[in-house]
Parts: sequence; C-alpha cells; structure tokens
Amino acid sequence: MTTRRDFLRISAAGTLATIFPSAGYAVGPTQVPRITFYGSTRQVSGSCHLLETSHGLFVIDCGLFISDVPDPAAENRDLPFDPKEVKAIFLTHAHTDHNGRLPFLYKKGFRGPIYCTDASRDLTEIMLNLSASLGELDEEPLYDPKDASGVLRLLKVIPYNRKFEAEGLTVRYTDAGHILGSAMVELWVDGRKLLFSGDMGPDHSPILCKPTQHYGADAVLVESTYGPSPRSFVSYEEFGKKIATVLERGGSVLIPSFAIHKTQIIIYVLHQLIEDGLLPKDVPIFSDSTTAQKCTAIYDAYAEYHDAQARAFAGKRNTLFYRNRYREGRVADVLKTHNAGPAIYISTSGMLSYAAAPQHLAVMASDPKNAVFIPGYQAPGTTGRELLDGKKRVTLNLDEFVNGERRPNKKEVDIRLEVDRVSGFSSHAVGEQILEWVHHFERVGPVYVVHGDEERSVGLAAKLQEMKVESLAPKRNDTFVVKGDRVKPGEVPKLEKLDKPAAPAVVDK
Ligand SMILES: [Zn+2]
Repeated sequence: MTTRRDFLRISAAGTLATIFPSAGYAVGPTQVPRITFYGSTRQVSGSCHLLETSHGLFVIDCGLFISDVPDPAAENRDLPFDPKEVKAIFLTHAHTDHNGRLPFLYKKGFRGPIYCTDASRDLTEIMLNLSASLGELDEEPLYDPKDASGVLRLLKVIPYNRKFEAEGLTVRYTDAGHILGSAMVELWVDGRKLLFSGDMGPDHSPILCKPTQHYGADAVLVESTYGPSPRSFVSYEEFGKKIATVLERGGSVLIPSFAIHKTQIIIYVLHQLIEDGLLPKDVPIFSDSTTAQKCTAIYDAYAEYHDAQARAFAGKRNTLFYRNRYREGRVADVLKTHNAGPAIYISTSGMLSYAAAPQHLAVMASDPKNAVFIPGYQAPGTTGRELLDGKKRVTLNLDEFVNGERRPNKKEVDIRLEVDRVSGFSSHAVGEQILEWVHHFERVGPVYVVHGDEERSVGLAAKLQEMKVESLAPKRNDTFVVKGDRVKPGEVPKLEKLDKPAAPAVVDK
C-alpha cells in the first residue's frame, strides 16, 4: 500500500502520474488543489479526505474504520499524514465513521479548528465521549478519554448557508438532510470550487429537510451507500398496521435502532401513527438507551432544522417526542415492564448484538404473540442478521459492564416471536436521487464516488459516466488534482432494483 510518506517522496520526484495510471490524470508535484482519499474508498467506513492547497493541508472528516475492512484496529492507527501539519478539519456530521478518529488526531498532535454545525457539535460530544469510555475496555485503546475531551475543545461551530473564511479557504455548510446537523461542505480555494456531499439524506426523511441542491463545482464527492438503486415506495401506514396487529393479539413489539436518528424518526413516526388513529392512544413507547435519550433531547432542541411537517406536528406542544405515552427509563426498569401488557420497545444496539436490545429479546423471544421489527441493514454475524435469515435458535449477548469491567453473559433462546424487516427508516439517499442531484448541476467537474462497497460505488460511478459526467470510485491513497473542467450533465439513466441488502451506514451503537 502506498502511504502518505511514500506519496510525498514520490511526489518530490515528480513521477506521480505513473503511480496512478488508472486515474487518468497527470499529477505534478506542485499542482493544487488536490484531494487524496484515505478512507470510505470502495467501502463505507473510515471517511477521511486530505485536501492540499497553497494555504496548507486540510482534512474533511476523519472517521473510524469498522467491520468492512480486514483489520479495523490496525487501519485506524495507520495515519498516512502528520496531523500536526493539518491546518483545519471540516466535519460533515456526527456519525462515528466520519468523526471517530478525531481524538486520535488530537493524540498525534492536531490542534487546529474543527468546523461543524452546532447540532453536529452536540451529537459529536455524546458519540466521542461514549467511544472513549467503550475504548477504555480495549486492550490497546486508540486514544484516551483526555484525547476525546481535548479534541472536543477544538470544535468550532458555524451556521448553515453562510460563507466564512478558514485559514485562507472560503467555506460554506449547507443542509445534507442525513442526520440532525449534517452538512455538505463547499470549499473555494486556489481558483477552484470543491463540494463534499458528506452522507446525503433521502428526499423524504421524517423530521429533516431535503438535502440542498447545488448547481456547480470543479470536483464533487458523493456517497454511494445504496449504489445505483431506484427509489422505492415507503408506507408508514403499513408499518403502523404491522404493529397494531401485534398489539391487538396482546403482544409487544421490539424495534432495535441506532441511537442517533433512527430512534428519533421511529418515535416521531409512531406518534404520528397514534395521532392518525392507526395505533391505539394508550400504547406505551419505551426508549431505554441513555445515548439515544441524549440524542432525542438534542433532536428536539434544534427545531429550526426540522422540516415544515415536523414543525407543524410539534405545534403548540413544542415537542416532537415528549408526549403522553412516551417513556424514557433505565434498562433495568424498562425490562420490568414486560409483564404489564403490550408495549413498543425502541432499544439499542441496532443489530441486536449488545446493549439492551438483546435483553428485551431474551424476555420476548419465546412468545409468538410478540414481534421484532428490524428497520435497518443487519451485518453478517450479528443477531439481527441471524433473525432475518430465519434462525430458530440464537445465542444472545447479554454481557454487562460493571465498574469498567465486562461480565460475560451469553444465553441461547428459541425464536418463536414474529420477525420482520421494516423499510423507510434509512438516512441515506438512494442512487436515483443522487443521480438526479448531479443532473441538476448546470456544469460539473469530476464526481468521485465514495462511502459505498466496491460494487455499489463503482456501479454509481458507471451510471454517472452514462450521464457524460467524468466519474470514478477512487481507491485508497489515490490523488487527483482539481483542474476546473466542467461539463453539463446528461439525463439520468434507467436503474434496476438491486437484490442485495445495503451496506452498513454507521457504527452499530
Ligand atoms: Zn452518516
């Protein structure tokens, strides 16, 4: 693998064009701006892009590598640049695959500003403190809690939609509609304009606004979680009917969810279904993850980022979540409510691999009146995937953490409850929407497709090429000069439905 140090050495020799022949660019040693891709290349995790300019080095996102690389622990430690040389970091949003290595950069000497929105700052605080405390349980932690608190002091809040100057660059953040506070980053430097989409939300996400449409850039980075897939119709009514059927037969429903975003949109949709009469008014809705509860409070507080429908729903009550039947509690207390009649439990982890969700499953699994409805991708090897694969006996991870120590506790259970997948709760745009987004550009330079597995990122780049847009899915360590050649994008090609489930979008927390 070519490391950043190799790159600088080779760059000095002026022979870069021979190193990246597939890129089709003649890269000289002094041409700026240029981007090097250090993560989320033909994979989802580890987003990290280095921007070299005449004003110095900048980094856009620095997230953790997770389960989609062979050795995440080693790759998270392999920093191909010197953090002390980085002038500033631009953070798109608070998911751990985008911000999880920031404390490691601090540990290695980074002390510049990290620009993000106010909501991203609040959510990042929660996620990094959680990662730091969980990391302490590792044999070789990537960083210490003091690195997490140190890097949090570097977060610099900037508003949406306003240009600002940062170390010689002009920058603007616009809403990406992915999770609360998520942003696309526009950067003007050395006579060029770059646009980083970050993770882009679906065009009809509950609570959040649509992702911002842009109209021109010399280089664009887009995500490809879903690859070149077409839109599919989502019915929350159907979700409501499924739950109502379980409640009517006297069962309870478990919905395993990520702490950020998925928990909040599910609570919101459930409240809407109750208000629309599709669910009984007296059904209790429990949320028992303290991380999710903190995120819910932040989602409620930033009403200015909610879409018109959510604002209307909040109305005079002034809250999307804290309504009559919604209950937050500690895991031990919420587990005691299982014999008090039908209820809906929203719990982490999102893939039922640890935390409270498997504890609920342990109580609920043997009763066919109950159901578990799974709202997201389930990675191979997780309990969630085993359930969706139809396994009738699974081993649950009920490990507890007491005074910083893990107390192992595994339990085998027979699966007699109803198991089903529910759709419509993704926080990522499908390929068709991304292609339309690019189609609306008046003129656009090369589009680099990241944040998707090999097949999906390469597939989306191929569809962009059909639109006469220069596009490719970069490989790790590829470097491209931003040259300033723009073209008018053509029509969006027809897409066929992919049958494989989507790649993981975030760390399962
Ligand atoms: Zn994300």
